Amino acid sequence: MARKPFIAGNWKMNQNHLEAIALVQKIAFALPEKYYAKVDVAVLPPFTDIRSVQTLVDGDKLSLTYGAQDLSPHDAGAYTGDISGVMLAKLGCKFVAVGHSERREYHAETDELVNKKVKAALKHGITPILCIGEKLEVREAGEHIHHTTTQLIEGLKGLKAEQVKDVVVAYEPVWAIGTGKVASSADAEEVCKAIRATLQEKYGDEVASSVRVLYGGSVKSGNISELVGCENIDGALVGGASLDGEEFTKLCALA
Ligand code: PEP
Repeated sequence: MARKPFIAGNWKMNQNHLEAIALVQKIAFALPEKYYAKVDVAVLPPFTDIRSVQTLVDGDKLSLTYGAQDLSPHDAGAYTGDISGVMLAKLGCKFVAVGHSERREYHAETDELVNKKVKAALKHGITPILCIGEKLEVREAGEHIHHTTTQLIEGLKGLKAEQVKDVVVAYEPVWAIGTGKVASSADAEEVCKAIRATLQEKYGDEVASSVRVLYGGSVKSGNISELVGCENIDGALVGGASLDGEEFTKLCALA
């Protein structure tokens, strides 16, 4: 089955709501509506920007989609500082990143919590972008495939095949995030292929051939073509380069 390429821009903790408007306007101007027939594009701004992005996307009827960088596993209640899937769905979010390595590292997110967040997203009709990937010492020990596929299995635990079909997986080797060190396309493809083989083994051919597997880690306009040229890489989760409208749209146009 042909999978539509997907590029998602993770803005991390950057851009206030006014800067967000300017950045979305740049993206809208540079990517003509007909472009979206070929590639799906989403931006993942900080929570405080989402309402502004929604207003622009709805007002101009843009095909650009948007989402959040995290969500609570709970729907509502005494969870100070958290944002729920109910709230994100109400704001028109189509995607949410779950288990990003920065959340795992700075907020001690475990596979168990990540699994609950994946389920919370699906419950509210939001596509989780499940982020998995190894640290440098794990790769150096030759354990990167085992580590990453274990994170995948744990992150999807308890889901039915028809739910897994709606998940996007992002392979993000931690040593390549924000470091300028991109994985070689052969290294990225090796792990993305193992991710697809694991999906096939656990959920069957149809799921394995329909789930989009992205690569993330220092993706730029200069390396995107080679990465998406790999059989099992369906697009990219882009951090730093998604903050520069010109660079991001150039990258999208090459996907
Ligand atoms: C990310 O934040 O998911 C990411 C891949 O960052 P960068 O592109 O900056 O490495």
